[in-house]
Amino acid sequence: MTQSTCLFCQIAEKKIPAKIAYEGKQIIAFHDIAPQAPVHILIIPKEHIATVNDFSEQEASLLGHMVLTAKKLAHELGIAEDGYRLNMNCNHLGGQTVFHTHLHLLAGRQFGWPPG
Ligand code: AMP
Ligand code: ZN
Repeated sequence: MTQSTCLFCQIAEKKIPAKIAYEGKQIIAFHDIAPQAPVHILIIPKEHIATVNDFSEQEASLLGHMVLTAKKLAHELGIAEDGYRLNMNCNHLGGQTVFHTHLHLLAGRQFGWPPG
């Protein structure tokens, strides 16, 4: 189910424009509006799932699909060999600002550890 007040649900429903990088039955990927790296794509489930805390066993294959889509995009964009970062932020201390869960695909610059 989607939520009419949710920004990413509205992007998934094409009610708000975004630069779409991939679309499948269950997920959609689009370029971040405020990129933190030369490549910054968000991979989201079309279904409204607010945070990582809301995933259950039922969504195990959906989560796998999100990661495999990130890998596929990385290959298509030619960034797989150099490397990239996948990131999911959960709730306040995790730095989550949009409460429709999403996987960040970041690439094109060096990332450090710990992330800061
Ligand atoms: P997070 O802080 O993990 O919740 O990430 C939310 C991300 O959504 C941030 O990187 C924002 O720049 C991005 N964002 C917010 N609004 C939009 C939008 N309309 N289109 C694309 N990305 C967005
Ligand atoms: Zn949503």
